[in-house]
Parts: sequence; C-alpha cells; structure tokens
Amino acid sequence: MNAAILTGIRRIELGEWPDPQIESDTDVLLAVRVVGVCGSDVHYYAEGGIGATRVEYPHIIGHEISGEVLEVGTSVTRVKPGDLVAVDPCITCGTCGQCVAGRPQTCLDQRFRSFPGQADGCLSERVVMPEHCCYPVAADMTPEQASLCEPLSVGIYAARLAGPVLQDARVAILGAGPIGLSVLLAARAAGTHFMAVTDKLPQRIRAAAAGGGADWSGLPQELDAAVDSGSVEPFDLVYECCGDQAALDQAIDLLVPGGELLIAGIPEGNRISFDINQLRRKEIRIQNVRRQNDCVQEAVQLLADRAIDADFMITHHYPFEKTQEAFELVSEYGDGVIKAMIEVS
Ligand SMILES: [Zn+2]
Ligand SMILES: [Zn+2]
Repeated sequence: MNAAILTGIRRIELGEWPDPQIESDTDVLLAVRVVGVCGSDVHYYAEGGIGATRVEYPHIIGHEISGEVLEVGTSVTRVKPGDLVAVDPCITCGTCGQCVAGRPQTCLDQRFRSFPGQADGCLSERVVMPEHCCYPVAADMTPEQASLCEPLSVGIYAARLAGPVLQDARVAILGAGPIGLSVLLAARAAGTHFMAVTDKLPQRIRAAAAGGGADWSGLPQELDAAVDSGSVEPFDLVYECCGDQAALDQAIDLLVPGGELLIAGIPEGNRISFDINQLRRKEIRIQNVRRQNDCVQEAVQLLADRAIDADFMITHHYPFEKTQEAFELVSEYGDGVIKAMIEVS
C-alpha cells in the first residue's frame, strides 16, 4: 500500500509500505479516510521527537483518523464492513494494573499509533486496529468530523479531570489550538460558568469567540491586564494548552488561591519550571492531562447530538500527496490554520 513516510526532519515521502493484515479475531481492517494533523505529530515532523522519545526513520506519523471498515476478525461485533468509524489511537493491553484501574491512557503496555517505538502512525491507505479502538459514527457524520473526535476526546477528558467543580468554575484556557478549543467546547457542553481563552494568533482568538463561544478572548497580555485592572476576576481552573513556559507562569498568576492548573500542552524541551513560593502561597494543585482516557465515544455522541459543533476548527484540506505541505503549514502556524485535514481516500 501507499504511505506517507517520515524519512527525516521535515521530510515526508510517499512510498510503499507493507500491507497490514488482520491477525487476531478482534482485529478490524480499515481504509483510512481522513487524518488530522496533530501538534504531537508536528513535533515528530519538525523536531524528530518529543523529549527523550526520538523518531527512528523511516516512521509513519498521524493518529487522528477516521476509517471505513473493510474487513473484520471473526469475533468482532461492534463494527461491520462499510461502517465509518472514529478511532482511539491508543491500543491498550487491557490487563495491566493501569488498565484494570480504569486508566487505559497510561497503560503500561500500550501501543499508541504514531508514537515512536510503539506503533506506526496512520498516514497510509490501510490500518488494522483492535475492535475496542473503533467507534461507529452517525450516518450523517463526515470522515473529517469523525477524525476530529480524537482531539475532541482529549478536551472531554481534560474537562472531566477537573471534576464536579468545573460547572461553577471560572476557567481560563491558555492556547486556542485544536486542544485548547476542544477543552473550550467540552467545558461549555458541561455548562461551565465563565471561560476566557488566550492565544497569540488573531485567527485563533476569533475562533475561540465565534466558534467556541468563549466569554472572553484575547492576547495573553490582555488577559493579564484585564485581571490586574479588576475587569476580569481570577480563575479557579487554568488549562495550559500551548506547551509554553510563559503560559505556565501566567497560569499561576491567573489562579485564585486553591486553584488548579491542568497541563495539556506539550513543551519542546524536557523541563518546565515554577515559582515554588507562588505555588506554595496559593496552594495550587497541578494536574497533567494524558490524552483521552476512553472519551472517544462521548465525542462521537456529543457531535451526533449537536451538543458540540466543532466544524469551525477544520480550516485546511489536503490530498494525500500533499501531506508534507500540510505538516509544513501547521508547523509554521501558516494561513490562520487551526486543524488541517489530509484526505487519504
Ligand atoms: Zn492528537
Ligand atoms: Zn494496559
């Protein structure tokens, strides 16, 4: 089959790749329809890794996918040939302590699609996924919407991690890329009281207000000024969704004492830092957000029920042959891009 193969830093070449085969009776063979370009894949593309995890070439990236079921193993019941499915890219073992404890996102024996050393990504004509990773979508859902269920599910999990305080909370989201906007949509669907969103890019600020329904949106320094002047009150929860040290520092400034910082962004380096005296005096809690923890079904449902409309996030469309162009655009934050979609078939 054809695949878009990462062969070096900022180099993706279309080439031949071995056909995936159904090996177990719970496997599902999918024709990949659409792959969304995700920030984590952009780190692999532009920097050759994330932290200590380095890409070994050749490697296939891409994990936000929708697919059409081509063939199923003998014991598969949830999907059938012809179904369009959203996909949870985390293949979990189901038996380790983390899986048993209901934490599949930190499964000790996981194979996450596109994660170097675990599994190839999905920028190829076909992939095989276990049944438990495949979620059939409503008949009127498009392959692009089905692919968007992956980042949306991260936002849903991030919102869920805040717990019951979320509804009455004042929430700031720092970074209005696809994950920040997904947190915004999920928190709004959960009925959050007040949400402010910052970004450095004007298009993303506009998207947070117009598409995401943020109560306040603007540049990072504008939010600082608004809080300093008292026109905006400090926040109970801050989601850091840009992987930026300046945003982490700002988050601590913006929080009320006893507030919580939730970190969903992926920084370029291995270390971040905090002013411990500020953390201590405010008694700040810090919670990391690791991917989606079984929230893909909820994303599928929220889109089917029209409780969430995320189409505004899809700003760019590329054919499979132009995969490299899509990654270039996203890595350079070009042309107001939020989510670029690659149509594989
Ligand atoms: Zn992603
Ligand atoms: Zn496990």
